[in-house]
Amino acid sequence: MEFEVTILGSNSAIPAHGRNQTAQLVNVGSSSLLLDCGEGTQIQLRKFKTKYSRVDHIFISHLHGDHYYGLMGLLSTYHLHKRVKLLTIYGPAGLDEIITTNFKYSNTRLNFPLRFIATNPNEKELILEEKNYKVFSFPLKHRIPCTGFIIQEKQAMLRMNKQMLLENKISIEAINTLRNGKDFLDENGDLLYLVKDYTLPPEPLRSYAFCSDTIFDPVDLVEYIKDSSTIYHEATFGDEEEVRAMETFHSTASQAGKIAELVQAKKLLIGHYSTRYLDLEPLLLQAKTNFQNTFLSEEGITYQID
Ligand SMILES: [Zn+2]
Ligand SMILES: [Zn+2]
Repeated sequence: MEFEVTILGSNSAIPAHGRNQTAQLVNVGSSSLLLDCGEGTQIQLRKFKTKYSRVDHIFISHLHGDHYYGLMGLLSTYHLHKRVKLLTIYGPAGLDEIITTNFKYSNTRLNFPLRFIATNPNEKELILEEKNYKVFSFPLKHRIPCTGFIIQEKQAMLRMNKQMLLENKISIEAINTLRNGKDFLDENGDLLYLVKDYTLPPEPLRSYAFCSDTIFDPVDLVEYIKDSSTIYHEATFGDEEEVRAMETFHSTASQAGKIAELVQAKKLLIGHYSTRYLDLEPLLLQAKTNFQNTFLSEEGITYQID
């Protein structure tokens, strides 16, 4: 199953150095999920040629403007494009009122149904369950109510037995069927390839934890995301600003690395960079002191969820 994240915005607070505010698009199977929606998100969605019309779920972590000021513009565009299918927004209580007020004063009646689900800033909750994946929200410690989100695949695909594939030329269609744990039949309905002959036990389940804005929290946060294989964690500041990070309920790069180390994740993405940093390489090096497999989140780049 496809499982990847494309970075749309990576800066904190204001757009700077060609970087935009937080937004990420996760493709999981045939679904696209939008995580946060900073100003300019719809421009980025187009620039990177994403399939943004298939987004049916938008997740907003908190109501600081750098995480949701792009939402009204995106909703307006869906309306102008004559969207008709349901769109669900998950976010802090009050976001529904903000959206309603905007449309009230522009005298807009949306073409499509919009559903709002308030997130719980105090407890981890399952907020969406689809055929192939689940989404949880979980509390983050920030200056205002804030949640992160975990996207978790439900069933890992089986691995193929490479030796058998070398010895038998079988179609891509057959491989996909077998990887999903089903025997492959020919056009007459007779068994052609058996799952037990061609596959090996599955890879561990993959999940992506999105930790948008948070103070360094090696206790509760680690407990909430402990099963996550790939983590995005904010790294607003370099290590020299540790005090400032604490005062503003943000994290430093090496603290982000520490969280990934404690979780025993496979991969870490950092982002939400302070405008004071033009060169991000020092942040990457600092995060790597605690967790080697760290990547800078860069706009327009798609990262596999391991
Ligand atoms: Zn922020
Ligand atoms: Zn914030």
